[in-house]
Amino acid sequence: MAFSPALSRLIDAFRVLPGVGAKSAQRMAFHVLQSERAGGERLSSALAEALQHVQHCRRCRMFAESDYCDICSNPQRDASRVCIVESPADVMALEQNTDFRGHYFVLMGRLSPIDGVGPEELGLDVLRDRLQNGPVEELILAVGATVEGEATAQYIGDLAERYGANITRIAQGVPVGGELEYVDAGTLSQAFSGRRPL
Ligand code: ZN
Repeated sequence: MAFSPALSRLIDAFRVLPGVGAKSAQRMAFHVLQSERAGGERLSSALAEALQHVQHCRRCRMFAESDYCDICSNPQRDASRVCIVESPADVMALEQNTDFRGHYFVLMGRLSPIDGVGPEELGLDVLRDRLQNGPVEELILAVGATVEGEATAQYIGDLAERYGANITRIAQGVPVGGELEYVDAGTLSQAFSGRRPL
């Protein structure tokens, strides 16, 4: 039996979520329509509102509802230390588990020319401007040890060298890229304080 057009569209829409296949999407759609209509309304308006108001911080690319995020607009934070991460989830994990009080730069991905993700997509022109306008004393790389992560590290390493910024990398063996949040606090804070020159 074919679903009605609106139901098909809803099921299809749920599939944009990570890890949600056809079966789960159908279960979610049925659940909302069957027993969670009020929750469905909340979900729908929260989603619309977030899509309209949440942008990227102009300085670090973290999610923000104004031009600059809370970290970039906090005068107590040290703007001369910039930690480069792959995702907003990494920022949250580092904030919760380390005593880092510098700034961040969120790539929102990793270099992967094959998938059309080049330096521009990762905002590396924004990072370059930041290095140029400085002063940045330390760039801390907290990107994954994957092939793309290595390519990203290499590119940023070259950039740092060109502008005379010191570059360090957090200890290897820690899964990063939206996964820092799953690392226990002790391991993460150790990896962070055990960072080495690249
Ligand atoms: Zn920011």
